[in-house]
Amino acid sequence: MPILPRTVTSPKKFIIGHDLLPQLHDHVKDFGDNALLVSDEFILERVREEALAGLLQAGLKGAVEKFNYECTDIEIHRLVDLAEQQGANVIVGIGGGKTLDVAKAVAFYLRRPVVLFPTIASTDAPCTALAVIYNQAGEFERYLFLPQNPDVVIADTAIIAAAPVRFFAAGVGDALATYFEARACYRADGINLVGKRPSRTGLGLARLCYELLGENIDMAMDAVRHHVTTPALEQIIEATIYLSGVGAEAGGLAAAHAVNNGMSVVPDLHRAQHGEKVVFGLLTQLVLERAPQAELDEVMRIIHVAGLPMTLQEMGLTRFVESEWRKVAALACDSLDTMGNMPMAVNEQDVYGAMIAANAMAERYRARHPNH
Ligand SMILES: [Zn+2]
Repeated sequence: MPILPRTVTSPKKFIIGHDLLPQLHDHVKDFGDNALLVSDEFILERVREEALAGLLQAGLKGAVEKFNYECTDIEIHRLVDLAEQQGANVIVGIGGGKTLDVAKAVAFYLRRPVVLFPTIASTDAPCTALAVIYNQAGEFERYLFLPQNPDVVIADTAIIAAAPVRFFAAGVGDALATYFEARACYRADGINLVGKRPSRTGLGLARLCYELLGENIDMAMDAVRHHVTTPALEQIIEATIYLSGVGAEAGGLAAAHAVNNGMSVVPDLHRAQHGEKVVFGLLTQLVLERAPQAELDEVMRIIHVAGLPMTLQEMGLTRFVESEWRKVAALACDSLDTMGNMPMAVNEQDVYGAMIAANAMAERYRARHPNH
């Protein structure tokens, strides 16, 4: 079998700043002159008054459409039809992860460029070449792997700082695992998120992601808790929206996300955010790797400062049921998941033990640093 090549993949442009909604036309005009703006309900008025008004003023055409809450095939087809009737040659998504995913899918089916404007920083959705499709009941249906990353991603720090703190913290949790998973995958010479081998650049971007979190987390949380923007907040958003996505895509995932995926079978954790569960997956991975104490201390400090849950109880677990957690361990070791990107052999028994030890480690940390 031929040896797989290494990759770096990324959006064409990543823009970060504030008051960017009225300047949307500046980034649309490079790709087309007639835009369909798919927007979350909460920001619909501003999209009309700032983004659409700016487009029209700049001599471009456009229309605004409300996203119907779930990224389903029905919703994708509804928006594809609308875009065709309108003659749109650029698709814009403004909102949370599902809105961005629907915009990516619509643009893919129409073979049009896509501009994304995330309003929260809780997942890697903005920068990756992937959309998650759900069914009408809101359950996971399939991944839609896209041939290209989004053309433009615009991060408005003022809008992201106005979102609930919990979503922001969840994005920090997801970004915190990026370096450790990329490092494991690189050491294992594993498979990255586009099915190729991890590149040194991917590992470097993931490393920078971790450094920015460590340097800026205290001041960024001050800003986001008071809904203001500061240079530290801007650096954290670069890490959570850009570096975390491209670092994971080129660098690959490992135990942290595999454990997160397994945790979906624990009913108590259904309300936990993706990034919150990834944090526990990361602690489990660090136990499996027998990480140095200084590294554990820094990771737990970042989790603590971000106000993220660290123990299973904080994440919503009311009762520990061994059979459930045996199942989590089994699912995390599924051959289709990313546990195979760990640099050592890991079986279900190893994962189960590491999860128990990770929770004990988190509880020991909390005994010394109470969670306010
Ligand atoms: Zn993730």
